[in-house]
This record gives sequence, structure tokens and C-alpha cells, in this order.
Amino acid sequence: MSRENNHDLLVKNGTLVTMDRENRIIENGAVLIREGIIECVGLSCDLEKGFTGKVLDAKQGLVMPGLVNAHTHLPMSLFRGLADDLHLMTWLNEHMFPAEARYINSETVHLGTLLSCAEMLLSGTTCCCDGYFHESQVAGAVLESGMRGVLAQGVIDFPAPGVPDPARNVECALSFVDQWVNRHPRIRPSIFCHSPYTCSEETLKKAKRAARDRGVLFQIHVAETLGEWEQIQKEKGMSPVAFLDHLGILDPLTLLIHGIHVDDKDLDIIAHRGSTLAHAPESNMKLASGIAPVPGYLDRGIVCGLGTDGSASNNNLDLFLEMDSAAKLHKVHSNDPTVMDARTVLAMATLGSAGAMGLGDLLGSLEKGKYADLIILDTHKPHLVPMYNPVSHLVYSATGADVRDVVVAGRLVVENRRLLTFDLDSVLGEVRGFGARLMGDGRG
Ligand SMILES: [Zn+2]
Repeated sequence: MSRENNHDLLVKNGTLVTMDRENRIIENGAVLIREGIIECVGLSCDLEKGFTGKVLDAKQGLVMPGLVNAHTHLPMSLFRGLADDLHLMTWLNEHMFPAEARYINSETVHLGTLLSCAEMLLSGTTCCCDGYFHESQVAGAVLESGMRGVLAQGVIDFPAPGVPDPARNVECALSFVDQWVNRHPRIRPSIFCHSPYTCSEETLKKAKRAARDRGVLFQIHVAETLGEWEQIQKEKGMSPVAFLDHLGILDPLTLLIHGIHVDDKDLDIIAHRGSTLAHAPESNMKLASGIAPVPGYLDRGIVCGLGTDGSASNNNLDLFLEMDSAAKLHKVHSNDPTVMDARTVLAMATLGSAGAMGLGDLLGSLEKGKYADLIILDTHKPHLVPMYNPVSHLVYSATGADVRDVVVAGRLVVENRRLLTFDLDSVLGEVRGFGARLMGDGRG
């Protein structure tokens, strides 16, 4: 594992929600970090002995692994609230695609990504799995923010921002991967095909082959709406999942996003191939796409992560709120309050997302040898006392606003709710300017 820096840090005096194999919760716990990697997890009184590096006092707050967002389109935060309460196809074809064609360029991608990274870090997300265009600018902004990411250049069979000639879409994605592979320990490149209905068979196969050759994650929206299912069924004579399998696309490095309109046969195929799922319940609810049968995925041992999707269809990147929604959506849908319990949902937003992105051995729990990505929540708040069960509070009571400090790769990037890595005020000013220009053009 590559080590990024020499950030030795001791985080002490916290209640550790480790998410380790024994599900340990350690009172008066500490995490010892050397060179960006967790060296030891234990009691404060033991680990502080002889430690001479920087110390971060958790002040009896909750210390947990940073949340991992399994599905984002970071620059789309610039379009948050631009078009709501619409069907997916209307939203995409009449609002998002035209807005992207007009306003998305390398500068706005950088700006929108910084905006999203600030929102994620300040709400406790330390790593995300992204798919968009001008992804090199996304990667630059993610690095600048101090976050970690699996970042994918988008592939779609019509002209896209930065890729005017769709015939070159896979080539562009491959050049992004080659540019970023092994370049920085916080960035992993990936390839993202938009969907089976916006990419041809040839494009899908070519893109997956490129991802497989390079050993990187391949991501795709699939079985998101009933309309997509009907279209693929009509054109290909099989379900979207069976179609991807038919093309040879499903393997453990394929991340399926949404996976809503699937039957038992589809789930068996996914389990058999070892592909993973990114579940984005709030986006699915907002666009009325449907409800992914997540308990069915989990029953088959399919690795499931939790994501927000872009904030234009959510409309925020707060994974604490997403956990709350995920837990409740599946209870009301199945008429069973015991499904998707707090522990299961918290595991999805940490270990599950990390595993879904191919980083299960490196992220998602406070354990020796993993990346030192962790967050501290201030629990001295009316909605968080008393605390009988920290896991319950993290899923059902806390929000991103309770996150006080954030550490990524052993480096403090949010301290006392202040972002340390870039000038947030200036980014907010620029984003306001972007919004004013868009409104001035008559699109608001
Ligand atoms: Zn998406």
C-alpha cells in the first residue's frame, strides 16, 4: 500500500465505532496513525503513552470511519434545485443534458467539484465514487480538497462535455485512466458508462474491455426505471442485467448503480458474477424510479454500498440523511420494521461502499493497516443524548452537521467544522456568480 505522507496523529478520548469484524465499540478509545495509515486502535490510556506527535482530542465525541459515498456526479451540485419534481427522462433530456451542454466546461467542473467536496467533508464523507466528464478536473479538485476518490471519466454515445465526438468516448476514458493510475494514493481512476440505453453494445464492450485491461472499476447505471427495462427487454429480448451479463460485462470490478428493476434471476446472475451495487434511495425516491430490492441483494451476499447520486437529484450529499432514508424506505416497502436495521445500513455506508468500489481491504473500518480516514461527531447536543446505542444515533438521529472534525490519510482536513484545505468562502462566491449567470440566461 502506498503511504502518502508523514502525518502521525493520535485521535484520543472518543467513543470508537470501529465497524471492525467484532463490531467493537470502544469507550475512551484512541486511534494511532502513522504515515496516513491506522497503526493501532485501542484505549486512550494505552496509546498515548510515549506518543510525541500531533494529538486530536475527540472530547468524548463519536469517532468512526469516514463515510464512503458509492455514487456521485460531483460537478452537478452546480445544478442543485434547477429542475425538480420531474420524471427521469424529462429531467435528463429537457434539463440536465442541455444545461451540461451549455455550462459544463473544465472550469465549472473544477468549481462544482470543490463545492461538492466541501459539502461532503463537512458532513463526514471522506471518499466517493464519481462518474462525470472532464474527470481530470474532478480529480484535481478532489486532490485539492483533501478527499479520496474512485473517479471515472464518463462514456456516452452522444456529444458530451469535453468529448464532442462520441466515437472517441472510450479513448478519452482510457486516456484519463492512464493519466491517473498510480499517480496519487488518494485517487483511483475508473470508467463509467452512463447506461445500457445511452451506450451501444459495442461501446459497452469496448469500455469494459478497457477497464478490465487496466484492472480498474467499471461503473454503470442499470435497471433504473421501468421504461429502461421495457426498452431493453423489447430491443434485446432480455432484462438490462441479463443483457450486461450477455455482453460479458459483469464481474467483481463492475459496480451496478441503482439496480432497481431486477428479478430473482437477475439477482442470482449478479451474485454469481460477484458484481456490486450502489444504492441511492433518495435519488430513486425523488425521481420515482422505484425501490431497489436491497434486502434481496444482501441475502445473496452481494456487496452493497450507499450513495447519494448527484445533488441535482437528491438534493444533498449528506450520507447521514441517506442512511436514515435507506433504513426507513425498505421498512415501509416491506411492511417489516426489522429489515435494514441500523447496523446493516451503517455498514453499507462504510464497509459496503468501500467494498463496492474495490477498496474493501483499505477503507470502511477503524482497523490496523487501513487508510486513516475518520470523522469525529460532536455528541453534546440535544438530539444525541442520552446515547444507549451509538449505531442507532448515527443512522436515525445524527446529520452531517454533527460532524466536527475530519481526517483523511492521517491529515486533519476539517477542524471544528472549518474546512482547512481551501478557501470555501471564495468558492461559494464563485458558485453564486455561476448561478447568477445561469439565471440571467433565462434558465432559472
Ligand atoms: Zn447517477
